[in-house]
Amino acid sequence: MTVTVRFAPSPTGRIHIGNTRTALFNWLFAQNNKGRFIQRFDDTDLERSRKEYADSILYDLHWLGIFPDSIEYQSKRFDIYDRAVEKLKALGLLYACYETPEELDLRRKVRRTRGLPPVYGREALSLSADEIASYEAEGRKPHWRFLLPNFTDDPSSPQRTEVQWDDLVRGEQTVDLASLSDPVLVRADGTYLYTLPSVVDDMEMGVTHVIRGDDHVTNTGVQIALFKVLGAEPPLFGHHNLLTTSSGEGLSKRSGALSVEGLREAGVEPMAIASLAVLIGTSENVQAMASMAELAAHFDLSSTSRSASKFDPDELFVLNHALLQHLEFEDVRDRLQLLGIEGERAPAFWNAVRGNLQKIADARDWWRIVDEGLLENPEFEAGDREFLAQAFDLLPESPWEADVWKAWTTSVREETGRKGKALFAPLRLALTGRASGPELAEILPLIGREGTLARRP
Ligand code: GLU
Repeated sequence: MTVTVRFAPSPTGRIHIGNTRTALFNWLFAQNNKGRFIQRFDDTDLERSRKEYADSILYDLHWLGIFPDSIEYQSKRFDIYDRAVEKLKALGLLYACYETPEELDLRRKVRRTRGLPPVYGREALSLSADEIASYEAEGRKPHWRFLLPNFTDDPSSPQRTEVQWDDLVRGEQTVDLASLSDPVLVRADGTYLYTLPSVVDDMEMGVTHVIRGDDHVTNTGVQIALFKVLGAEPPLFGHHNLLTTSSGEGLSKRSGALSVEGLREAGVEPMAIASLAVLIGTSENVQAMASMAELAAHFDLSSTSRSASKFDPDELFVLNHALLQHLEFEDVRDRLQLLGIEGERAPAFWNAVRGNLQKIADARDWWRIVDEGLLENPEFEAGDREFLAQAFDLLPESPWEADVWKAWTTSVREETGRKGKALFAPLRLALTGRASGPELAEILPLIGREGTLARRP
């Protein structure tokens, strides 16, 4: 059977780095198993779901290097879910409930004071025909609950009923169905909650592995029960740990925190996001992977830790820095052109500066320094101006050879007696206006003789 996975966000906002973890876990799992990756939009909540969010999620996934084999929208599949509902009703496993949220709240409080677990007590199962008729006459519409298979004869006395599975990440897992309320599958307005459509789609689309966040572990108990009553073998499940920021805060699509879009705009490379999103909270070191194929080789579901993993967004720039150092000019030619960096000197310029960047846009300032001159006036140490006047007098004549820096600094050393930092630091400051940066041996030929003379302090 072809390994088939799906990434199933609800399109209610832009995806963030935590969603990216789920998407990439699925994508890499599919890659490593020559499987299929389905992009499924869980857009049954018509109020909150937006087509433009779905489109932006697809855009972000492509940018990251994820290319779905097929794209599905739950909002187009309601008739398929309707058939499953009919089947559950026919089996007597879906029942109508009329309670308002306030009534349910009150019941929960009463159960708590009696020392009972705050789950739904299945009162709707014993409504008489008259009671139902009077609710309907009041204009109440029922919502529908799945009767969990957690009893022998009497649904009002649930008994411990363990659902077990061997989780691909967490190992042996158990959910006791008696500890849960019968889940609402269909709302009073006829719309679907996530639980049933997800199971129906996983069945219909031949999903073999469900890889998702560990906030779904309890759902899995319910969903395995649903697969079984609908006559299907459940897929395998893997629940990965969630990402939180360093302060322990969760990420939310709605808040827009650490969205892929925001990170892209801040100049973070796709592989920096992918490397962090996949490797953090696993037994692998977090390091910059140059390609998805390289990342796939370091990906192993079972090496994922079970507790939430905190990450520091600044780490993205550390990875970015590491990635940029190895990018060739051809990889970035178009992006540099957008920054105005082009022409004969551009390839050598890129090679000179790539080790000094946190993000590609940082190259723009270096280009201006090389091309136009200093961006700020340097402050020299006492005595440096005289030294520099002497040094600039010694600047080699045109035409310059490739080793002009070496030739120049050798003669400056011989003439002035300065060496090491005392020699190089003022020269660097005079040439670039900055105390650190790219190799001057590579930068000097790009500045050229005229450009250099123009910087004489
Ligand atoms: N729409 C659900 C979510 O975003 C999907 C969970 C699942 O993968 O089944 O949490």
